[in-house]
Amino acid sequence: MRERRIRSDEVELAIREWGEPDHPTVLLMHGYPDTSAVWTDVAERLADRFHVVAYDVRGAGGSTGPADPGGYRMSSLLGDLAAVIEAVGYQRPVHLVGHDWGALQGWAAVSDPRTSGRIESFTSTGGISLDHLAACLSHMRERGPRGALAVAGQLVSSAYIGFFQTPVLPEAVVHAAGRRGWERVLRRQGVRPREWHPAPTMESDARAGLNLYRANMLNRREERGGPPPRVATPVQLVVSAHDRYLSPELAKAHAEWVERAWVRRAPAGHWIQLTHPDLLSRWITEFIDAVDGAVKEARPLQPYEGGAFDGRLVVVTGAGSGIGRATAYGFAANGARVIAADIDEDAAKHTMEGIVERGGTAHVFGVDVADPEAMAQFADWVRDTHGVPDVVVNNAGIGIGGSLLDTSEEDWASIRAINFDGVYRGCRLFGRQMVERGQGGHIVNLASMAAYAPSVSLPAYSAIKAGVLQLSECLRLDLAEHGIGVSAICPGIINTPITSHSRFVGIDPEEAERLRERSKAAFARRGYPAEKVALAIMRAVLDNRPVVPVAPEAQVGYLLSRFSPTANRALARLTNRAALRTNTRRSRGMIRE
Ligand code: NAD
Repeated sequence: MRERRIRSDEVELAIREWGEPDHPTVLLMHGYPDTSAVWTDVAERLADRFHVVAYDVRGAGGSTGPADPGGYRMSSLLGDLAAVIEAVGYQRPVHLVGHDWGALQGWAAVSDPRTSGRIESFTSTGGISLDHLAACLSHMRERGPRGALAVAGQLVSSAYIGFFQTPVLPEAVVHAAGRRGWERVLRRQGVRPREWHPAPTMESDARAGLNLYRANMLNRREERGGPPPRVATPVQLVVSAHDRYLSPELAKAHAEWVERAWVRRAPAGHWIQLTHPDLLSRWITEFIDAVDGAVKEARPLQPYEGGAFDGRLVVVTGAGSGIGRATAYGFAANGARVIAADIDEDAAKHTMEGIVERGGTAHVFGVDVADPEAMAQFADWVRDTHGVPDVVVNNAGIGIGGSLLDTSEEDWASIRAINFDGVYRGCRLFGRQMVERGQGGHIVNLASMAAYAPSVSLPAYSAIKAGVLQLSECLRLDLAEHGIGVSAICPGIINTPITSHSRFVGIDPEEAERLRERSKAAFARRGYPAEKVALAIMRAVLDNRPVVPVAPEAQVGYLLSRFSPTANRALARLTNRAALRTNTRRSRGMIRE
């Protein structure tokens, strides 16, 4: 690492450099209340390939500050950036990376014709654009109640900015908090002491940096004015899922004003460069390669296209029918690339064609989830051909009806192999891929209302779905630290062809057929559409919900089972009356088989 100092107007800036100067330059900009040292781990990882530069913003670390607080205005900060690019860029445009206030300066730089030509690409993390903030907030509000809620949440977590506008008091608080205070802030965002590299920012940086807020938060509009500018520079938005200071929705909303934007979701808090330096360095490198055209198809890097699942890869098993097909359509309609898998490959193909007709992207794979080897091959194919999936929906399943006493070893093994082992396999194979990739993800398992509502005619199905529910809870606990969510869906009575695909044990084929027709008619009368389950699945992913009972009967049953198991059993006796009577008559020999 080399150090030097340059002049920019009335201040002196401290610059640190790594790597060969004739390599492409990556310029790292720190936020508040950090110094350029916050980038050390990332800089060291990038130095093999790039000429890496980081500098202390005026008033922070080794740089001097202006005498007048007005000297912290964005126009002066951009002047510093231009001076640094001039000094270190060797006449080439640089790849800019900004965190927190560094990102605010980066957005201003790529939106400003005086500096944008000097910047080849921009990676933004943990920060917003002051020029686009108002437009982003109204764009979020237009997206309905979820967006409005995200705006409200953002305003609450930004309340400290209002406090920073007041005189004297913020300085007193920063002074009182001291080093211990900053350690607490870092810990709360998941930064472990061994990752404080170097020691947390000292008080003097925190006090001088308050001027950034005072000079810019209220004045930027009058300084720049006009509508939010379009950004022609390619931008990579690294959105940290657990950032306490910036809602992922607000960070993502910026993509609307960028001609070529890529969005990445990280299982990180605010200081991603401290907690995930490997991941961030890899993403910066991949992005630069994609922008430079060095990699023609940067697989894990998907351009932002709008929609809740913009460019994400979603695997759905059992996608050839019912809930699986509706879920595949739903994700595709919201921007996802879908892998439609089913044991019935023609049915999955039909789903794919439906998606393509609607302008979406889908691929097909024929797989039996009950076959361990076939599933392992399927998971490898997905990773090697399309990348690690962001969402996996373990949906494939069959129904089986009849008393447990009539359920043979073969019957039991066959439903378990599909409905339970298939889910286990999907979770294990794709969960492992997600963990290794380190970018989070989500696994959805189709359980059932039968998991908590006792049933005389569905004992094997119910028991196995209860297993799916608990498997999902355990896995959720396990994978949370990797930023991977797990949801169990309990649909209710949904009008799909499931009864046509179901088996009935302990009765002769004619009676089974009659029962199948009766069930079909009952499901059709209930008329609850698979599309509503698909919507609940997508919401479960967006909100990372653990257990989702969907139709009203599933919701009531879930509440009863949790709050009054006695009432739940009484209801089960009532709803299973007919089946109980049949079983009694059969056991007394009144029905000959
Ligand atoms: P469906 O019969 O319409 O679709 C199931 C799909 O899974 C079919 O395309 C089928 O070919 C596929 N499949 C079956 N066995 C497979 C295997 N071994 N490997 C790969 N694919 C296989 O059923 P649905 O109603 O859409 O059910 C989907 C899921 O939702 C199932 O897990 C089911 O248990 C669950 N569920 C359904 C309801 C309901 O009322 N329909 C209620 C609760 C839970």
